[in-house]
Amino acid sequence: MSDRYQLPREEMVAKQIRARGILDERVLTAMRQVPRHLFVDSALRPQAYDDYPLPITGGQTISQPYIVACMTELLQLRGDETVLEIGTGSGYQAAVLSRLCHQVYSVERLNSLLPQARKIFDSLSYFNITAKLADGTLGWPEAAPFDAIIVTAGGPEIPPPLLDQLADPGRLVMPVGKQEQQELCLVTKKGGETRTEILAGVRFVDLIGIHGWKN
Ligand code: SAH
Repeated sequence: MSDRYQLPREEMVAKQIRARGILDERVLTAMRQVPRHLFVDSALRPQAYDDYPLPITGGQTISQPYIVACMTELLQLRGDETVLEIGTGSGYQAAVLSRLCHQVYSVERLNSLLPQARKIFDSLSYFNITAKLADGTLGWPEAAPFDAIIVTAGGPEIPPPLLDQLADPGRLVMPVGKQEQQELCLVTKKGGETRTEILAGVRFVDLIGIHGWKN
């Protein structure tokens, strides 16, 4: 898409993402395509391609571009997958995923965020994203199994329903740990076995719900 932010977007991909080792060309292309500035408040648009997270409605945040790219790359999407996202927020992560897989299901617990995200998906004709208001720690049983699951809020453990709803083979990424300080975990399910790897220290807003931090 050509717009006045095309240059900053190209620079974001080159300097913040590719330069830090994200090499999956499909992920880089998606990050070059999705107009991140539309997912933040108009007053913050000039900062939309800068190297840090930004505030969105309800005290939540849209993650730093590099973190979005990194978590997306870990899912190793090839195009035909069904993906579950927990924490729709601004909708930006779901939008990036939607360019890389067949169908995105995204769950958000705050009603104040969903209408705006849906409006942007429609305006961009990203019709392969379905978003609903619910407690994402319960997953989305009716749409399971998922080839990939991404949790964009941090909690003390991976909610068991998400592990149940992960396909075999399947990949799940989530920040796990204490409030305000977690480790990015990658779970891979293959041949009936589940493996968990701890990748890096990260800082996400809290996952709230039955299997996350309590309300
Ligand atoms: N992926 C988002 C990041 C949003 S921040 C983006 O690209 O903008 C994390 C989001 O997780 C917040 O919007 C928060 O409300 C949501 N969240 C926290 N706990 C949740 C839960 N149990 N179910 C669904 N969403 C949850």
